[in-house]
Amino acid sequence: MSSPPPALHILAPDEPPAFEVVNPEGPSSAVLLCDHASNAVPRSLPELALQEEALREHTGWDIGAALLSRRLSALLDAPLVLSGYSRLVIDCNRPLGAPSSIPEVSCGVPIPGNTIDAAEARARADACFWPYHNAITALLDARRDRRQRTAILSVHSFTPSMPGQDRPWHAAVLYGRDRRLAAPFIELLRREPGLCVGDNEPYHVSAGGDYGIPVHGEARGLPCVLLEIRQDGLLSAEGVEAWAQRLAAIYREIEARGLAGGA
Ligand SMILES: [Zn+2]
Repeated sequence: MSSPPPALHILAPDEPPAFEVVNPEGPSSAVLLCDHASNAVPRSLPELALQEEALREHTGWDIGAALLSRRLSALLDAPLVLSGYSRLVIDCNRPLGAPSSIPEVSCGVPIPGNTIDAAEARARADACFWPYHNAITALLDARRDRRQRTAILSVHSFTPSMPGQDRPWHAAVLYGRDRRLAAPFIELLRREPGLCVGDNEPYHVSAGGDYGIPVHGEARGLPCVLLEIRQDGLLSAEGVEAWAQRLAAIYREIEARGLAGGA
């Protein structure tokens, strides 16, 4: 009998964890998720770490999203779960096995470190994808057991332009089957002078192309929305603060209307 191949260790014991939970007992009805918070790469993936430019850009993470979600967590006194590693290692907002889960090409850039076999794909999921999502599940289960009203806000950023397309939206409100939060977010953001707000564009949420909203929101029956802010609004501390204040104020108004939480 042949012995099984040695287990692939993606994260060394001294490396940062695959997720961070901020303010887990936060009393807000909002639970914030930041799937693309980090552009870190584990030491075990040196070929991926060579993709320096891709890692600095949107291909590697959502620029400004971690800072924005941390401020929003503080302003709302809300729990926040952040992923610890780059979306190029494994994308925490894609179903496992989707071509964009561990992309061999991202935004037109080939990612040679991602031509891998099924065993390494499983190892990356075990190291980075499941710990992050299991932390979210545990947090949501605990709130359900406490009968705490909960809504999911997934915080992202997007690039000002794609090849052949400039994006006029300063922010975008994305949703799938559940518009309970999206509709008032769109209404209240559009009240802000000078803001161009995308309604399910430049992307929309789908079970085939997303993970957090369909699984942690829709499948649990929780009101849920994916908020995208254009990167150039998050490049300075003032920009991050302005967006955090704006989104917190809008969320409080939505809460005051009684729309924000499901049990
Ligand atoms: Zn994102």
